[in-house]
Amino acid sequence: MIESGTDIIKLPEIKLFDKYKRRLDYLRISVTDRCNMQCIYCMTHGKIQKLPGSEILSYEEMLRIAGIFVQLGISKIRVTGGEPLVRKGVCDFLIKVSKLEGLSDLSITTNGILLKEKIGKIKSAGIKRLNISMDTLKKDKFKNITGVDAFDEVWSSIMIAHDMGFYPIKLNVVVLFGINDDELLDFARLTFSYPFHVRFIEYMPIGTSPLTSRQLFAPEIKRIISSIGPLNPVKRNRFDGPAQRFKFENAKGEIGFIRPISEHFCSSCNRLRLTASGNLKTCLLSSAETDLKTPLRNGCSDKELTEIILKTVYDKPFEHPLASNCAGVIRGQMSKIGG
Ligand code: SAM
Ligand code: SF4
Repeated sequence: MIESGTDIIKLPEIKLFDKYKRRLDYLRISVTDRCNMQCIYCMTHGKIQKLPGSEILSYEEMLRIAGIFVQLGISKIRVTGGEPLVRKGVCDFLIKVSKLEGLSDLSITTNGILLKEKIGKIKSAGIKRLNISMDTLKKDKFKNITGVDAFDEVWSSIMIAHDMGFYPIKLNVVVLFGINDDELLDFARLTFSYPFHVRFIEYMPIGTSPLTSRQLFAPEIKRIISSIGPLNPVKRNRFDGPAQRFKFENAKGEIGFIRPISEHFCSSCNRLRLTASGNLKTCLLSSAETDLKTPLRNGCSDKELTEIILKTVYDKPFEHPLASNCAGVIRGQMSKIGG
């Protein structure tokens, strides 16, 4: 259960280990494959096949699976999508997830369009930290990247979240060569005006995205933004994900680099993913998935589901296919997996 105002949280014993002795304590749940944007790096405009509604887990099913994971030692859950806020009833789901005994951290990743209208309920679910995707600070470009003319809505959602005391607000920026790399300094300078954590994410070539041009990796991004001033490393805390964290002197916010490609973090990966269609993925960039929905719908017990989960987790791959240079085309679609 998420407790506000205290850091003294009794965490459940972690029973999820893989064969490389990595502890898995973080679950990302994609509640839908639907989205009100079509970002060029995530979906190919207009060509995405939606899952039939019956293929998507109900909230009750997700809650049951989440409960089993928490019993097994998952202490952090992130709700994602597609766009999580487009699914009806998501706030009630968040409230129920937040009550799972043993969960210490619940957060969401959103594109921000619907955030304003749901933010009160999101806060009442005990969520304090938000990740919001924002790949450009320019209105026209926003439409080109996302397919939707919604820069103002998203920016005002960010401001409202900031005024309501959400902290940290992490702005996820997927860096795209020739598209938003001219804005790296503008994003970096935002950290002087606001306590935001601006996170530059290396683009992952996955699924049917048409982006094939040269990639910009973290060292180059860091070199470019270092023209503003020295970037000092930030001490890590227990909520830290894979981002390498830095701060400019006198800045209110931080800079993060997420480097799935140039310096992959597979050896310390603590993540599992439940897709909207009820598959368990132990590696974002691997096509391997274990179907939890079919056994669940066929009436299997929690004990049987636990056994399937433990076995799948044990077999988590050592590293993702791009790390070992045997990628070929990574199948899948980020909006179904949840990023
Ligand atoms: N719709 C929500 C959003 O955009 O924040 C949540 C789902 S989205 C799939 C989760 C994260 O994955 C976003 O921050 C997005 O920028 C990131 N993402 C999607 N496709 C990506 C790609 N090809 N490479 C790197 N990050 C990607
Ligand atoms: Fe939708 Fe998020 Fe994918 Fe953009 S990144 S298309 S907002 S799921």
